[in-house]
Amino acid sequence: MSFEKLGLEPRLLETVAAQGYSIPTPIQKQAIPVILEGRDVLGGAQTGTGKTAAFALPVLQKLNKAGRKGKHPRCLVLAPTRELAAQVGESMAVYGKKMALRSAIVFGGVGINPQIDKLRRGIDILVATPGRLLDHCGQKTVDLSRVEILILDEADRMLDMGFIHDIKRVLRLLPQKRQNLLFSATYSNAIRGLADKLLNDPAMVEVAPRNTVAEKVEHLIHPVALKEKKVLLAKLINDGDWQKALVFTRTKHGANRLATYLEKGGIGAAAIHGNKSQTARTRALSEFKRGKLKILVATDIAARGLDIAALPQVVNFDLPNVAEDYVHRIGRTGRAGSSGMAISLVSADEQKLLRPIERLLGRDILVENIEGFAQNEADKDEETFVNFNRRGKGPGRGRYSRSRQSGGGRASGNSRSANPVKPNTYK
Ligand code: AMP
Repeated sequence: MSFEKLGLEPRLLETVAAQGYSIPTPIQKQAIPVILEGRDVLGGAQTGTGKTAAFALPVLQKLNKAGRKGKHPRCLVLAPTRELAAQVGESMAVYGKKMALRSAIVFGGVGINPQIDKLRRGIDILVATPGRLLDHCGQKTVDLSRVEILILDEADRMLDMGFIHDIKRVLRLLPQKRQNLLFSATYSNAIRGLADKLLNDPAMVEVAPRNTVAEKVEHLIHPVALKEKKVLLAKLINDGDWQKALVFTRTKHGANRLATYLEKGGIGAAAIHGNKSQTARTRALSEFKRGKLKILVATDIAARGLDIAALPQVVNFDLPNVAEDYVHRIGRTGRAGSSGMAISLVSADEQKLLRPIERLLGRDILVENIEGFAQNEADKDEETFVNFNRRGKGPGRGRYSRSRQSGGGRASGNSRSANPVKPNTYK
Protein backbone atom coordinates (compact mmCIF):
# COMPACT_ATOMS: atom_id res chain seq x y z
CA MET A 1 0.00 0.00 0.00
CA SER A 2 1.20 3.51 -0.77
CA PHE A 3 0.76 6.79 1.09
CA GLU A 4 -1.61 8.01 -1.68
CA LYS A 5 -4.30 5.55 -0.59
CA LEU A 6 -4.39 6.89 2.97
CA GLY A 7 -6.20 10.11 2.07
CA LEU A 8 -3.29 12.50 2.50
CA GLU A 9 -3.20 15.64 0.39
CA PRO A 10 -0.57 16.15 -2.33
CA ARG A 11 1.56 18.57 -0.31
CA LEU A 12 2.01 16.01 2.46
CA LEU A 13 2.66 13.26 -0.06
CA GLU A 14 5.50 15.34 -1.49
CA THR A 15 6.96 15.89 1.97
CA VAL A 16 6.72 12.21 2.78
CA ALA A 17 8.46 11.32 -0.48
CA ALA A 18 11.17 13.91 0.23
CA GLN A 19 11.77 12.16 3.55
CA GLY A 20 12.42 8.98 1.63
CA TYR A 21 9.35 7.18 2.95
CA SER A 22 7.82 5.10 0.17
CA ILE A 23 5.64 2.68 2.10
CA PRO A 24 3.61 3.58 5.17
CA THR A 25 4.51 1.63 8.28
CA PRO A 26 1.73 -0.54 9.80
CA ILE A 27 0.80 2.07 12.41
CA GLN A 28 0.61 4.73 9.71
CA LYS A 29 -1.64 2.55 7.53
CA GLN A 30 -4.05 2.04 10.40
CA ALA A 31 -3.96 5.39 12.15
CA ILE A 32 -3.86 7.98 9.33
CA PRO A 33 -7.34 7.24 7.86
CA VAL A 34 -9.10 7.10 11.24
CA ILE A 35 -7.45 10.28 12.50
CA LEU A 36 -8.49 12.04 9.28
CA GLU A 37 -12.06 10.85 9.93
CA GLY A 38 -11.92 12.62 13.27
CA ARG A 39 -12.06 9.60 15.53
CA ASP A 40 -10.33 9.19 18.86
CA VAL A 41 -7.48 6.69 18.73
CA LEU A 42 -5.87 4.34 21.19
CA GLY A 43 -2.55 3.47 19.60
CA GLY A 44 -0.30 0.67 20.76
CA ALA A 45 3.05 1.56 19.27
CA GLN A 46 6.56 2.02 20.46
CA THR A 47 9.03 4.62 19.33
CA GLY A 48 10.60 3.32 16.13
CA THR A 49 7.37 2.20 14.50
CA GLY A 50 6.77 5.46 12.66
CA LYS A 51 4.12 6.57 15.15
CA THR A 52 5.09 10.25 15.05
CA ALA A 53 4.27 10.54 11.35
CA ALA A 54 1.19 8.38 11.98
CA PHE A 55 -0.35 11.18 14.04
CA ALA A 56 1.54 14.23 12.74
CA LEU A 57 0.58 13.85 9.06
CA PRO A 58 -3.22 13.61 9.50
CA VAL A 59 -3.22 16.25 12.24
CA LEU A 60 -1.31 18.69 10.02
CA GLN A 61 -3.74 18.03 7.20
CA LYS A 62 -6.77 18.68 9.40
CA LEU A 63 -5.40 21.86 10.93
CA ASN A 64 -4.30 23.18 7.56
CA LYS A 65 -7.66 22.44 5.97
CA ALA A 66 -9.47 24.40 8.67
CA GLY A 67 -7.09 27.33 8.09
CA ARG A 68 -5.40 29.45 10.72
CA LYS A 69 -7.67 30.61 13.51
CA GLY A 70 -6.28 33.10 15.97
CA LYS A 71 -3.29 32.81 18.26
CA HIS A 72 -4.14 29.93 20.53
CA PRO A 73 -2.99 26.34 19.92
CA ARG A 74 -5.47 24.02 18.23
CA CYS A 75 -3.36 20.92 18.68
CA LEU A 76 -1.58 19.98 21.90
CA VAL A 77 0.95 17.14 22.06
CA LEU A 78 2.06 16.05 25.52
CA ALA A 79 5.30 14.08 25.75
CA PRO A 80 7.13 12.66 28.77
CA THR A 81 10.63 13.99 28.13
CA ARG A 82 12.30 17.04 26.69
CA GLU A 83 13.99 14.93 24.06
CA LEU A 84 10.76 13.37 22.86
CA ALA A 85 9.01 16.76 22.88
CA ALA A 86 11.88 18.23 20.83
CA GLN A 87 11.75 15.35 18.37
CA VAL A 88 7.99 15.45 17.92
CA GLY A 89 8.17 19.23 17.49
CA GLU A 90 10.91 18.86 14.88
CA SER A 91 8.89 16.20 13.06
CA MET A 92 5.84 18.49 13.03
CA ALA A 93 8.01 21.25 11.54
CA VAL A 94 9.53 18.94 8.93
CA TYR A 95 6.28 17.30 7.85
CA GLY A 96 4.44 20.63 7.89
CA LYS A 97 7.03 22.69 6.11
CA LYS A 98 4.85 23.22 3.04
CA MET A 99 2.02 24.49 5.21
CA ALA A 100 1.60 27.82 6.91
CA LEU A 101 1.05 26.33 10.35
CA ARG A 102 3.00 27.61 13.34
CA SER A 103 4.31 25.34 16.05
CA ALA A 104 6.18 25.68 19.32
CA ILE A 105 7.94 23.29 21.67
CA VAL A 106 8.00 23.95 25.39
CA PHE A 107 9.88 21.98 28.03
CA GLY A 108 11.63 22.64 31.29
CA GLY A 109 15.34 23.00 31.96
CA VAL A 110 15.71 25.91 29.55
CA GLY A 111 14.72 29.58 29.78
CA ILE A 112 11.00 30.28 29.70
CA ASN A 113 11.17 33.72 28.03
CA PRO A 114 11.95 32.63 24.46
CA GLN A 115 9.04 30.19 24.79
CA ILE A 116 6.76 32.99 25.97
CA ASP A 117 7.78 35.14 22.98
CA LYS A 118 6.99 32.33 20.62
CA LEU A 119 3.62 31.62 22.22
CA ARG A 120 2.74 35.29 22.15
CA ARG A 121 3.27 35.45 18.40
CA GLY A 122 0.58 32.80 17.95
CA ILE A 123 0.80 29.08 17.26
CA ASP A 124 -1.33 26.27 15.88
CA ILE A 125 0.53 23.30 17.35
CA LEU A 126 2.06 23.11 20.80
CA VAL A 127 4.32 20.24 21.80
CA ALA A 128 5.04 20.21 25.53
CA THR A 129 6.16 18.32 28.56
CA PRO A 130 3.47 18.51 31.27
CA GLY A 131 5.37 20.44 33.96
CA ARG A 132 6.51 23.34 31.81
CA LEU A 133 3.13 23.50 30.10
CA LEU A 134 1.48 24.01 33.48
CA ASP A 135 4.01 26.75 34.28
CA HIS A 136 2.90 28.54 31.13
CA CYS A 137 -0.75 27.99 31.96
CA GLY A 138 -0.14 29.37 35.45
CA GLN A 139 1.51 32.48 34.00
CA LYS A 140 -1.28 32.73 31.44
CA THR A 141 1.23 32.72 28.63
CA VAL A 142 -0.78 30.05 26.86
CA ASP A 143 -4.50 29.51 26.52
CA LEU A 144 -5.62 25.92 25.95
CA SER A 145 -9.30 26.70 25.48
CA ARG A 146 -9.13 26.34 21.69
CA VAL A 147 -7.47 22.92 21.57
CA GLU A 148 -9.27 20.72 19.06
CA ILE A 149 -6.85 17.78 19.04
CA LEU A 150 -5.00 16.36 22.06
CA ILE A 151 -2.22 13.82 21.63
CA LEU A 152 -0.64 11.95 24.53
CA ASP A 153 2.59 10.47 23.25
CA GLU A 154 4.27 7.66 25.20
CA ALA A 155 1.46 7.85 27.72
CA ASP A 156 2.84 4.86 29.63
CA ARG A 157 6.11 6.71 30.17
CA MET A 158 4.27 9.77 31.36
CA LEU A 159 2.47 7.69 33.96
CA ASP A 160 5.71 5.90 34.93
CA MET A 161 7.31 9.26 35.48
CA GLY A 162 4.52 10.40 37.76
CA PHE A 163 2.82 12.88 35.44
CA ILE A 164 -0.74 11.66 36.01
CA HIS A 165 -1.73 14.65 38.18
CA ASP A 166 -0.18 17.11 35.76
CA ILE A 167 -2.04 15.44 32.90
CA LYS A 168 -5.33 15.68 34.78
CA ARG A 169 -4.67 19.36 35.47
CA VAL A 170 -4.01 19.94 31.78
CA LEU A 171 -7.19 18.05 30.82
CA ARG A 172 -9.25 20.41 32.97
CA LEU A 173 -7.99 23.34 30.91
CA LEU A 174 -9.10 21.86 27.59
CA PRO A 175 -12.49 22.22 25.92
CA GLN A 176 -14.81 19.24 26.31
CA LYS A 177 -15.26 18.68 22.62
CA ARG A 178 -12.03 17.59 21.01
CA GLN A 179 -10.32 14.68 19.28
CA ASN A 180 -8.03 12.60 21.52
CA LEU A 181 -5.15 10.39 20.44
CA LEU A 182 -3.37 8.30 23.03
CA PHE A 183 -0.20 6.40 22.14
CA SER A 184 1.42 3.94 24.48
CA ALA A 185 3.89 1.09 24.07
CA THR A 186 2.30 -0.90 26.89
CA TYR A 187 -1.22 -1.30 28.31
CA SER A 188 -1.16 -1.30 32.07
CA ASN A 189 -4.31 -0.91 34.13
CA ALA A 190 -3.34 2.72 34.66
CA ILE A 191 -3.26 3.30 30.90
CA ARG A 192 -6.60 1.55 30.47
CA GLY A 193 -8.06 3.77 33.18
CA LEU A 194 -6.74 6.90 31.50
CA ALA A 195 -7.94 5.73 28.08
CA ASP A 196 -11.43 4.99 29.45
CA LYS A 197 -11.73 8.49 30.86
CA LEU A 198 -10.18 10.30 27.95
CA LEU A 199 -11.25 8.54 24.80
CA ASN A 200 -14.65 8.47 23.17
CA ASP A 201 -15.34 5.30 21.17
CA PRO A 202 -11.70 5.04 20.13
CA ALA A 203 -10.38 3.24 17.10
CA MET A 204 -7.82 0.76 18.39
CA VAL A 205 -4.69 0.68 16.33
CA GLU A 206 -1.91 -1.62 17.32
CA VAL A 207 1.14 -2.55 15.35
CA ALA A 208 2.83 -5.22 17.30
CA PRO A 209 1.76 -7.19 20.29
CA ARG A 210 2.83 -5.62 23.50
CA ASN A 211 6.50 -5.83 24.35
CA THR A 212 7.71 -7.28 21.11
CA VAL A 213 10.85 -6.05 19.46
CA ALA A 214 11.70 -5.79 15.81
CA GLU A 215 12.24 -9.20 14.24
CA LYS A 216 15.39 -8.05 12.55
CA VAL A 217 17.25 -7.49 15.80
CA GLU A 218 19.93 -10.04 16.65
CA HIS A 219 20.32 -10.46 20.41
CA LEU A 220 23.63 -11.51 21.92
CA ILE A 221 24.98 -12.04 25.41
CA HIS A 222 28.70 -11.75 26.10
CA PRO A 223 29.58 -13.16 29.53
CA VAL A 224 32.23 -10.98 31.15
CA ALA A 225 33.53 -10.11 34.59
CA LEU A 226 32.17 -6.84 35.87
CA LYS A 227 35.55 -5.14 36.00
CA GLU A 228 36.37 -6.19 32.43
CA LYS A 229 33.20 -4.83 30.86
CA LYS A 230 34.65 -1.56 29.67
CA VAL A 231 37.69 -3.30 28.17
CA LEU A 232 35.42 -5.69 26.30
CA LEU A 233 33.21 -2.87 25.06
CA ALA A 234 36.20 -0.96 23.69
CA LYS A 235 37.40 -4.14 22.00
CA LEU A 236 34.00 -4.75 20.41
CA ILE A 237 33.87 -1.16 19.15
CA ASN A 238 37.38 -1.29 17.72
CA ASP A 239 37.33 -4.82 16.31
CA GLY A 240 33.87 -4.39 14.80
CA ASP A 241 34.71 -0.87 13.57
CA TRP A 242 31.43 0.36 15.04
CA GLN A 243 30.40 3.77 13.81
CA LYS A 244 27.36 4.36 15.97
CA ALA A 245 26.15 2.66 19.11
CA LEU A 246 23.93 3.56 22.02
CA VAL A 247 25.19 2.09 25.28
CA PHE A 248 23.01 1.80 28.37
CA THR A 249 24.26 1.99 31.91
CA ARG A 250 22.16 1.72 35.03
CA THR A 251 23.55 4.80 36.74
CA LYS A 252 24.50 8.35 35.81
CA HIS A 253 27.93 7.87 37.38
CA GLY A 254 28.42 4.70 35.41
CA ALA A 255 27.52 6.58 32.22
CA ASN A 256 30.05 9.33 32.99
CA ARG A 257 32.80 6.90 33.90
CA LEU A 258 32.30 4.83 30.78
CA ALA A 259 32.17 7.81 28.43
CA THR A 260 35.38 9.18 29.96
CA TYR A 261 37.10 5.81 29.65
CA LEU A 262 36.16 5.47 25.98
CA GLU A 263 37.21 9.05 25.22
CA LYS A 264 40.60 8.39 26.82
CA GLY A 265 41.01 5.42 24.54
CA GLY A 266 40.31 7.56 21.47
CA ILE A 267 36.68 6.54 20.94
CA GLY A 268 34.44 9.59 20.63
CA ALA A 269 31.81 9.22 23.34
CA ALA A 270 29.50 11.31 25.49
CA ALA A 271 27.18 10.57 28.38
CA ILE A 272 23.57 11.72 28.41
CA HIS A 273 21.56 11.62 31.61
CA GLY A 274 19.37 13.65 33.93
CA ASN A 275 22.23 15.52 35.61
CA LYS A 276 23.42 16.97 32.33
CA SER A 277 22.12 20.34 31.26
CA GLN A 278 19.68 20.46 28.42
CA THR A 279 22.30 22.18 26.28
CA ALA A 280 24.84 19.43 26.95
CA ARG A 281 22.29 16.74 26.13
CA THR A 282 21.18 18.41 22.91
CA ARG A 283 24.79 18.91 21.87
CA ALA A 284 25.71 15.28 22.58
CA LEU A 285 22.69 14.01 20.67
CA SER A 286 23.37 16.21 17.68
CA GLU A 287 27.08 15.27 17.58
CA PHE A 288 26.11 11.63 17.79
CA LYS A 289 23.57 11.99 14.99
CA ARG A 290 26.12 13.76 12.80
CA GLY A 291 28.66 10.99 13.42
CA LYS A 292 31.06 13.19 15.38
CA LEU A 293 30.64 10.89 18.34
CA LYS A 294 30.51 7.15 17.88
CA ILE A 295 29.13 6.25 21.24
CA LEU A 296 26.33 7.72 23.26
CA VAL A 297 26.20 6.37 26.80
CA ALA A 298 22.77 6.84 28.34
CA THR A 299 20.63 5.98 31.32
CA ASP A 300 17.13 4.62 30.69
CA ILE A 301 15.31 7.83 31.52
CA ALA A 302 17.57 9.97 29.34
CA ALA A 303 17.21 7.64 26.39
CA ARG A 304 13.44 7.48 26.39
CA GLY A 305 12.01 8.42 23.06
CA LEU A 306 15.35 9.39 21.53
CA ASP A 307 14.85 9.39 17.79
CA ILE A 308 18.04 8.09 16.29
CA ALA A 309 17.36 6.55 12.92
CA ALA A 310 18.77 3.16 11.98
CA LEU A 311 21.04 2.56 14.93
CA PRO A 312 23.07 -0.57 14.16
CA GLN A 313 24.06 -1.46 17.73
CA VAL A 314 22.50 -1.07 21.13
CA VAL A 315 24.58 -2.28 24.07
CA ASN A 316 23.41 -3.11 27.55
CA PHE A 317 26.55 -2.34 29.50
CA ASP A 318 24.45 -3.16 32.55
CA LEU A 319 21.30 -5.20 32.19
CA PRO A 320 18.18 -3.32 33.22
CA ASN A 321 16.53 -4.43 36.47
CA VAL A 322 13.15 -4.53 34.79
CA ALA A 323 12.70 -6.76 31.75
CA GLU A 324 10.41 -4.23 30.01
CA ASP A 325 13.27 -1.74 29.96
CA TYR A 326 15.26 -4.17 27.83
CA VAL A 327 12.52 -3.95 25.22
CA HIS A 328 12.47 -0.16 25.41
CA ARG A 329 16.24 0.02 25.06
CA ILE A 330 16.31 -2.36 22.13
CA GLY A 331 13.54 -0.34 20.46
CA ARG A 332 16.37 1.95 19.38
CA THR A 333 17.76 -0.55 16.93
CA GLY A 334 16.26 -2.48 14.03
CA ARG A 335 13.89 0.42 13.37
CA ALA A 336 11.59 0.85 10.40
CA GLY A 337 12.84 -2.33 8.79
CA SER A 338 16.63 -1.97 9.16
CA SER A 339 18.51 -4.69 11.01
CA GLY A 340 20.25 -4.24 14.34
CA MET A 341 22.24 -5.89 17.09
CA ALA A 342 21.32 -5.89 20.76
CA ILE A 343 24.41 -6.78 22.77
CA SER A 344 24.37 -7.39 26.50
CA LEU A 345 27.55 -7.56 28.58
CA VAL A 346 26.50 -9.83 31.39
CA SER A 347 28.43 -10.43 34.58
CA ALA A 348 27.76 -13.33 36.94
CA ASP A 349 25.59 -11.27 39.29
CA GLU A 350 23.32 -10.20 36.42
CA GLN A 351 22.41 -13.64 35.15
CA LYS A 352 19.26 -13.76 37.23
CA LEU A 353 17.94 -10.83 35.19
CA LEU A 354 18.13 -12.74 31.92
CA ARG A 355 15.29 -15.20 32.34
CA PRO A 356 12.54 -12.59 32.63
CA ILE A 357 13.97 -10.81 29.58
CA GLU A 358 13.97 -13.99 27.52
CA ARG A 359 10.44 -14.76 28.66
CA LEU A 360 9.30 -11.35 27.52
CA LEU A 361 11.07 -11.73 24.18
CA GLY A 362 9.67 -15.21 23.78
CA ARG A 363 13.04 -16.61 22.83
CA ASP A 364 16.43 -17.51 24.24
CA ILE A 365 19.29 -15.15 23.64
CA LEU A 366 22.46 -16.49 22.05
CA VAL A 367 25.46 -16.49 24.38
CA GLU A 368 28.71 -15.67 22.61
CA ASN A 369 31.89 -16.13 24.59
CA ILE A 370 34.58 -13.71 23.57
CA GLU A 371 37.97 -15.27 23.95
CA GLY A 372 39.77 -14.01 27.01
CA PHE A 373 36.73 -12.38 28.56
CA ALA A 374 34.47 -15.34 29.21
CA GLN A 375 37.57 -17.02 30.60
CA ASN A 376 38.05 -14.18 33.05
CA GLU A 377 34.53 -14.73 34.22
CA ALA A 378 35.20 -18.44 34.59
CA ASP A 379 38.39 -17.79 36.55
CA LYS A 380 36.43 -15.62 38.86
CA ASP A 381 33.65 -18.05 39.51
CA GLU A 382 33.88 -21.36 37.71
CA GLU A 383 30.60 -22.68 39.01
CA THR A 384 28.57 -19.63 38.01
CA PHE A 385 30.06 -19.71 34.56
CA VAL A 386 29.20 -23.35 34.01
CA ASN A 387 25.67 -22.66 35.18
CA PHE A 388 25.47 -19.73 32.84
CA ASN A 389 25.93 -22.01 29.87
CA ARG A 390 23.38 -24.52 31.08
CA ARG A 391 20.86 -22.20 32.58
CA GLY A 392 17.23 -22.95 31.91
CA LYS A 393 17.83 -25.75 29.45
CA GLY A 394 17.36 -28.83 31.57
CA PRO A 395 19.90 -31.48 32.50
CA GLY A 396 22.58 -32.38 30.04
CA ARG A 397 21.78 -29.70 27.49
CA GLY A 398 24.19 -26.91 26.75
CA ARG A 399 22.94 -23.40 26.46
CA TYR A 400 22.43 -21.80 23.08
CA SER A 401 25.96 -20.51 22.64
CA ARG A 402 28.98 -19.98 20.44
CA SER A 403 32.51 -18.65 20.85
CA ARG A 404 34.32 -15.88 19.10
CA GLN A 405 38.06 -16.36 18.88
CA SER A 406 39.52 -12.93 18.23
CA GLY A 407 39.51 -9.85 16.05
CA GLY A 408 35.75 -9.83 15.57
CA GLY A 409 35.70 -13.09 13.61
CA ARG A 410 33.28 -15.75 14.69
CA ALA A 411 33.76 -19.44 15.12
CA SER A 412 31.06 -21.98 15.70
CA GLY A 413 30.91 -24.33 18.66
CA ASN A 414 30.37 -23.58 22.28
CA SER A 415 33.63 -24.47 23.92
CA ARG A 416 35.90 -22.00 25.59
CA SER A 417 39.33 -21.49 24.15
CA ALA A 418 42.02 -23.67 25.70
CA ASN A 419 44.55 -20.93 25.33
CA PRO A 420 42.88 -17.62 25.96
CA VAL A 421 44.72 -14.52 24.93
CA LYS A 422 44.04 -11.59 27.15
CA PRO A 423 43.58 -8.42 25.15
CA ASN A 424 46.34 -5.96 25.83
CA THR A 425 44.54 -2.83 24.73
CA TYR A 426 42.68 -0.64 27.23
CA LYS A 427 44.45 -1.34 30.43
P1 AMP B 1 9.01 7.08 15.29
O1 AMP B 1 8.39 5.77 15.64
O2 AMP B 1 7.98 8.12 15.02
O3 AMP B 1 10.01 7.50 16.32
O4 AMP B 1 9.79 6.90 13.90
C1 AMP B 1 10.93 6.09 13.79
C2 AMP B 1 11.78 6.41 12.58
O5 AMP B 1 11.18 5.88 11.40
C3 AMP B 1 12.00 7.88 12.33
O6 AMP B 1 13.39 8.07 12.14
C4 AMP B 1 11.24 8.18 11.06
O7 AMP B 1 11.90 9.16 10.30
C5 AMP B 1 11.21 6.85 10.35
N1 AMP B 1 9.98 6.63 9.55
C6 AMP B 1 8.73 7.01 9.85
N2 AMP B 1 7.87 6.60 8.89
C7 AMP B 1 8.58 5.94 7.97
C8 AMP B 1 8.25 5.27 6.74
N3 AMP B 1 6.99 5.19 6.29
N4 AMP B 1 9.25 4.70 6.05
C9 AMP B 1 10.52 4.76 6.52
N5 AMP B 1 10.90 5.37 7.65
C10 AMP B 1 9.95 5.95 8.39
